[in-house]
Amino acid sequence: MFANKVVLVTGGSSGIGAATVELFAKEGASVAFVGRNETRLEEVAKKCEQYGAATLVIKADVSKEEEAKTVVQRTVDKFGKLDVLVNNAGILRHATVTDPKFLENFDEIMNTNLRPVVLLSSLAIPHLIASKGNIVNVSSVLATWIKIPGTISYCMSKAAMDHFTRGAATELAPHGVRVNSINPGPVLTDIAANADMPKDLNQDNIVEKLTALGRFSESEEIAELILYLARARSVTGSCYLIDNGMYLK
Ligand code: NDP
Repeated sequence: MFANKVVLVTGGSSGIGAATVELFAKEGASVAFVGRNETRLEEVAKKCEQYGAATLVIKADVSKEEEAKTVVQRTVDKFGKLDVLVNNAGILRHATVTDPKFLENFDEIMNTNLRPVVLLSSLAIPHLIASKGNIVNVSSVLATWIKIPGTISYCMSKAAMDHFTRGAATELAPHGVRVNSINPGPVLTDIAANADMPKDLNQDNIVEKLTALGRFSESEEIAELILYLARARSVTGSCYLIDNGMYLK
């Protein structure tokens, strides 16, 4: 059980984040969660109600510093503390290194997938030191597997995230705070539909062919690993693959 724990999840309105919010709520945690789509955030809050969980819906764009920097404080104002930060919000966009829009693509991805992770973690750390809490970063198998053309910026954002995980885990260990990444392969969410991927990369079954097990994960499977790491007292600085064997291909 996760009763009396306070969890903050970014990107809680959809996919992996929404499943994570629901799982922590089911485990008895109070959950704050962030996204831009208010309707979808409210739908997730409604699902949590069935478990009697206390929730805080935070409508914020994490790529905008003035909005992102309010998120941790609003959570602590409501629940009095913070035990777990799940840095999950992320986007996928397509541009090859020769594309004239490559730099624009790089900035958009870094400003969503990486910078808010550093900002929110910095703001959360004093509270996590107080609670002996932990951070789970939602990275990707693409942090190390760079074979899909046009995903360089995305891969870089996740590679940097994993390095942030290891560095922060090293520096925070003496304070009793753990930091881990999870590195999913393909998961059935809206991320690909929201990305401007070319048709040949979006065709049916392409991603299934890329995995040894020939399947996608469900968001709930990823949420289970996040929950596991949030309470795994002996795990820190780890980057956990959960990729249906994509890295093996
Ligand atoms: P979804 O598109 O289903 O969800 C993305 C979430 O991020 C939404 O809740 C969205 O909220 C939020 N988000 C995106 N941009 C912002 C922003 N600027 N401000 C606030 N919230 C934002 O995708 P997934 O669930 O698949 O993705 C979640 C994480 O998992 C990402 O970090 C992704 O890189 C990672 N991942 C996903 C994989 C997959 O195959 N699906 C594989 C490996 C990793 P809203 O739209 O309301 O703003």
